[in-house]
Amino acid sequence: MARSLGLQYTCEVLRITDTESLLREALYEILEKYKEIATRGGGVFILDAKEQILKLVIQKGPDTEEPPCGNQVKMGKCLCGLTAQTGRMGLYPSGLDESDHERPIGQATPHGDICIPLYAKEFGILGVLHLRTDTGVSPSRKTLDILGKDCEKLADALFRAQAVDTLVTQYKKLQEREEDQSQRVHRLRLALEHAKRAKSDFLSSVSHELRTPLNAIIGFSQVLQEEYFGGLNTKQKQYVNDILESGKHLLDLINDILDLSRVESGEMKLEVEPLLISFILESSLHLIKEKAFKHSIEIEVDVSEEIRKLAIMADHTKLKQVLFNLLSNAAKFTPDNGAICVGARIIADPVIRDDSRARDESPGWIEVFVRDTGIGIEGEDKKRVFDDFYQVSAGLSGKTPGTGLGLPLAKRLVELHGGRIWVESEGRHQGSCFVFTLPIGICPWEKSSELTQFAAG
Ligand code: ADP
Repeated sequence: MARSLGLQYTCEVLRITDTESLLREALYEILEKYKEIATRGGGVFILDAKEQILKLVIQKGPDTEEPPCGNQVKMGKCLCGLTAQTGRMGLYPSGLDESDHERPIGQATPHGDICIPLYAKEFGILGVLHLRTDTGVSPSRKTLDILGKDCEKLADALFRAQAVDTLVTQYKKLQEREEDQSQRVHRLRLALEHAKRAKSDFLSSVSHELRTPLNAIIGFSQVLQEEYFGGLNTKQKQYVNDILESGKHLLDLINDILDLSRVESGEMKLEVEPLLISFILESSLHLIKEKAFKHSIEIEVDVSEEIRKLAIMADHTKLKQVLFNLLSNAAKFTPDNGAICVGARIIADPVIRDDSRARDESPGWIEVFVRDTGIGIEGEDKKRVFDDFYQVSAGLSGKTPGTGLGLPLAKRLVELHGGRIWVESEGRHQGSCFVFTLPIGICPWEKSSELTQFAAG
């Protein structure tokens, strides 16, 4: 009884360790307990379920452990294979080495065999315990019953140990994969940072190299255009004008590319200050007034009394740049005698719209719009106009050349403020309305004097 409990203890304790240790300890204990019958030692075969082969994983002679000799036997062959197949104990009182074993079992002199299935209730056959006896040894029924029970316990513990082994292997594989992935992510991040630095270095040196001669081209063609050093004939005037326009266009392009890359590399920082939004809107219109006048385009500011007094926290230069990009597009894509309207309204917080308590505490949002009666934007183009270098096909909008970077830059600047931008249009020749949101931000009272001065200035 005490011995039987001992084996149970071994199985219980060892089930949480690896299969190999469990089998070694269990085999030693069984050989010791049944030394009267296992006179020639024994071993454990484990079933490879996929290959349907029993493999000898541990064996021990009467005195010392022997290394497993790579012995294996097919299911259903030899006494161990038959035991595994039938699930019943097999006795062979006087056997010799079996030819069905791929390699001979150690000590292949005449001997007897007892094979006991290692059968786990949750799984089925896991392997076979093989005891080698002297020929003619015939154990009692009672001893064989106890041996059978011990092997049931061993099989249960073996099943759990194998499950733990599988889990540990899978866990290790997962860990390795995770490590691999985090190393890959780290490498990619380094490469990305390197590429970003290289890109911004490249852009700043190229822009310097390009801007210097470009400013000379623009400056000298302006001098020629003004006819300081003598008059120009019509052809010359036209060519000088082309040089000037192309130079300015190239400069715009370089400046836009530089700004975009500065936002992307995180170099462009916001310098927020309290701003009277109605003042910003009105002063932005000055930028297109002349052009609008030339083309008889009506311009209008649409703000409520509430907006007139409202100050928001934003970056003055960047907000003006967004408005300039939108307004100059509106002027560019609106035919003569059209209209442009710029305005703002307070909206509920786009994120916490449904939570009235949070809304009370939130400083809120405004929506700024630039609406025109121009050529309009259709379908997919409403999204694509915010892509870098995208321009709607020339047939519709080829009135004035552009860079295709004005809207992408406006988008990034709005997003830098935490807002978003989109365009609404009923389609071709129905006009467009570009809308962007901005958080109002908390405007400290002590800044109100600066605000008045700013508005007055
Ligand atoms: P650009 O104006 O320099 O071409 P943008 O990025 O500012 O570049 O605009 C991209 C394109 O979006 C324009 O080329 C034009 O096709 C379209 N677009 C922009 N604003 C308007 C507008 N107000 N009405 C119609 N189309 C517009």
